[in-house]
Amino acid sequence: MDSQPKGKPFDAAKYYVVPSEMIRYMAAHFDTTVCPQCGKDDGWEMDGQENQEGVTQLIVYRLTYAESTGIFRPFFSMNCSACGSIRQIIGDNVVGWLSEKPKESTNE
Ligand SMILES: [Zn+2]
Repeated sequence: MDSQPKGKPFDAAKYYVVPSEMIRYMAAHFDTTVCPQCGKDDGWEMDGQENQEGVTQLIVYRLTYAESTGIFRPFFSMNCSACGSIRQIIGDNVVGWLSEKPKESTNE
């Protein structure tokens, strides 16, 4: 897993993920879509926005490890539609898994 190298500028383009690919990641990693906080299964709203090509992609957030550092822990975020609990998933895990399991080669 390649994490953000120390001191290197953050490259948001590395974290280009569309909602359908995020759903594929989640289906492969989570047994259920039920919210662990409220127990309801009302769906999850992903934080996404339209890019310049008109394609909706997930927003990648940058969480700094510490003040005055160039080291980030990029993540994606979504919330339970029922209770608003927020789930964050580390961007490197998602893009790493998606590159190892491109859509064409999955047979699940
Ligand atoms: Zn909930």
